[in-house]
Formats: sequence, C-alpha cells, structure tokens
Amino acid sequence: MTVVTRFAPSPTGYLHLGHAYAALFAFDAARHDGGRFLLRIEDIDPERCRPEFEDAILDDLAWLGLEWETPVRRQSECLDDYAGPLERLEAMGLVYSCYCTRREIQEEIARAHHAPHGPDGPVYPGICRDRPENDAAADRVFALRLRMDEAIEEAGPLTWTDAARGEVAAEPGMFGDAVLARKDVPTSYHLAVTVDDALQGVSMVTRGEDLFEATHVHRLLQALLGFPTPRYHHHPLIKGEAGKRLAKRDKALTLRALRAAGKNPDEIRALAGFE
Ligand code: GLU
Ligand code: ZN
Repeated sequence: MTVVTRFAPSPTGYLHLGHAYAALFAFDAARHDGGRFLLRIEDIDPERCRPEFEDAILDDLAWLGLEWETPVRRQSECLDDYAGPLERLEAMGLVYSCYCTRREIQEEIARAHHAPHGPDGPVYPGICRDRPENDAAADRVFALRLRMDEAIEEAGPLTWTDAARGEVAAEPGMFGDAVLARKDVPTSYHLAVTVDDALQGVSMVTRGEDLFEATHVHRLLQALLGFPTPRYHHHPLIKGEAGKRLAKRDKALTLRALRAAGKNPDEIRALAGFE
C-alpha cells in the first residue's frame, strides 16, 4: 500500500514558516515511502478565504520545491460530496437542526451553572436538541448538529494510531453536539476533512498538534460513516520569538517575507528545523 499524505491549508492568509514545516513534513513523509502527496484547499469559509491567498499558497509551495497531484481539490467546489454522508448520519437519527444565533447560545451559556468548554469553544448547550422539527423557528436558517451522546453510543469505543503518541482512545464527547453543516455552508470543517480524507484515499494524516483534538471527532465520524481510519502524525508547531506559536498575522515569518529577504528554499527547510 503506497502512503498518501496531504497538506490542507485554508486560504485565509499568507503561509508562514509553520505552514512550510507542515507542508514539507507531509511531502517528505510521502516521498520517503515512494507515496503520493496531495494538496487540498480548505476554502469553505466564504468570509475568510480569498483567491489571492490561494494563488500565493500555490506559488509559495512550488517555490519551496513541492510537487503535488492535480487537479487540486478545492472544498468549495465539492460541496455536493458532503450531502450524502450528512444524509447517512441523518438517517441514523444522529443529526438535528439548530436555529440558534450566536447570541442565543451565549445567553444560554451565561445562564447555565455548568458550561463546559471544548476544543472548538464553549460546548453547545443543547437548546435545539429536543425541538420538534416542525417548530415555529423552522423558517429561520439553521445549522446541523451531531447528537454526540447517541453517536458515541452507536460507534462504541474507538482508537486511532498516532505516530507521536501511540494508540489514542477517541473521546469526542468533549466537543458536545458538533456542527456538521453551518448555516451558510452545507458542511463544516470536521465533516469536510473527514469526507475528503476518505474520498482522496489519504492514508496518513500529518498535521500540527493544534489539530490533535479534532481527530477525536474525525475518528467518530469515520466510524459512523464506514470510512477507513488513516494513520496520524500530529507534529509539534514551530514557535516564533518569545516561544509563541506562529499565526498568520506574524508578517515577518511569512514565506513571502522570507523570500523577499533573500532566503532560498534550503534555508527555509533549515529554518523550519529540517536537516
Ligand atoms: N485547513 C486546516 C488548517 O489550515 C487544516 C486541516 C487539517 O489538516 O485537517 O488549519
Ligand atoms: Zn440551536
């Protein structure tokens, strides 16, 4: 079995040294084993994604010396692919419509005595969980949420293998009723990534430790949807000055800026900590 890895940036800004590390990590992992490397553009968020950032990503990665298979998968062009999996989860009784505004959720959380926090922020307090589907609110736009407790029950105990941490027990419950489809987009990060990795045959997901928790919910969705489970390698994040993790707003370490300052791709590799 040839290994298939991917780098899956969101075009919401310029790539920085941390992205270069993640991209090279995935590329090298494929190349090392004579495998395949894919690039996927995760652009489901119309508010934050911009074509000029996508152009810059392709340009920076090519300059770095990466080669990827074409056509590049662009999530915004694949929205139909998420409908079938959503329908399957709906048919299993694991999905409900959520009409809440952000403010209603915040107010309910403020009222609650017990307001757990999950990896994606405060856990949704379940306001719409038992709402009848023909409720008066139904003419409002809605998101779709996973019935987390029932989903966990349905899937049973799950684990995945992580190159950095060994066998990990999935604990998706900490997310609460995760969003599967947003109000403005018929999917969510968690659903799109899970479906895409399966459709594209990704056999090893490499990504930063900041997305380690997300794997708990991805593993659950894989089990519910009958998808294979890739191997995972969550790698450390590159730290900037003062030991803080890099963000897209750290201009000095964008690949653009480093290129403009005269660095070459080998120097980027070295800066990112590769041999
Ligand atoms: N698109 C995500 C990001 O840029 C990464 C997705 C993933 O690797 O699962 O943070
Ligand atoms: Zn709701």
